[in-house]
Amino acid sequence: MTVIGIDGPSGVGKSSVSREVAQRLGYGYLDTGAMYRAMAWLCLNRGVEDPQDVVEQVRGVDLEISTDPADRSVVVDGVDVTEEIRSEEVSQNVQLVSAVPEARADLIEMQRRIIARTTPGIVAEGRDITTVVAPDAPVRILMTAREDVRIARRATELHGGADAQSTAATRSQIADRDAKDSKTTSFLSAADGVTTLDTSDIDFPTVVEAVLDLVRKAEAK
Ligand code: C5P
Repeated sequence: MTVIGIDGPSGVGKSSVSREVAQRLGYGYLDTGAMYRAMAWLCLNRGVEDPQDVVEQVRGVDLEISTDPADRSVVVDGVDVTEEIRSEEVSQNVQLVSAVPEARADLIEMQRRIIARTTPGIVAEGRDITTVVAPDAPVRILMTAREDVRIARRATELHGGADAQSTAATRSQIADRDAKDSKTTSFLSAADGVTTLDTSDIDFPTVVEAVLDLVRKAEAK
């Protein structure tokens, strides 16, 4: 079973690249960010803020996340939250869950179980896959891109274009979230043995090829 771990900051394009790589290899795909988002959605929905209460929500949850790269569905306690977890409100409040160490520990356990049961392989993406969730994965990649490039990519994804107004709105979102996230996870520089893939000046198909190339090299070893 092959595990490909991909980490990186927001807006770098990890999800699209990871899904495409998974599809090309016939592998499963795990979006760990979606799990933090789903828990944040649940906590917001239930008015839970206290870290200990957040941990209890995580412990009692029934979280179902698709590992099919063509199906991004996420169901939490029977509610399909696939769309809602992409909302601005969830994006801005996701640290309600991701900054709580005990909540992380439980979600990481779930992630490891999903990774272990997915055959013939899985592409898992997030912020701490290469360092914490799957540090022994044969392929570990840190995707990076200059901030202006990430802002333009996310603005296009969210608003359909990277004009001045959407760029300004996206800039503070991305910078804020990365600054907060880097207090709990380390995704700004590559850990030992992790390959940095700077995608600033290469297009989507080239990034996908670069990842597939790293997979082929790992398989040849
Ligand atoms: O990847 P995405 O932007 O959807 O992640 C949403 C949030 O989930 C991040 O901003 C971060 O707070 C949290 N996260 C995390 N560890 C991961 C993946 C995501 O803390 N492995």
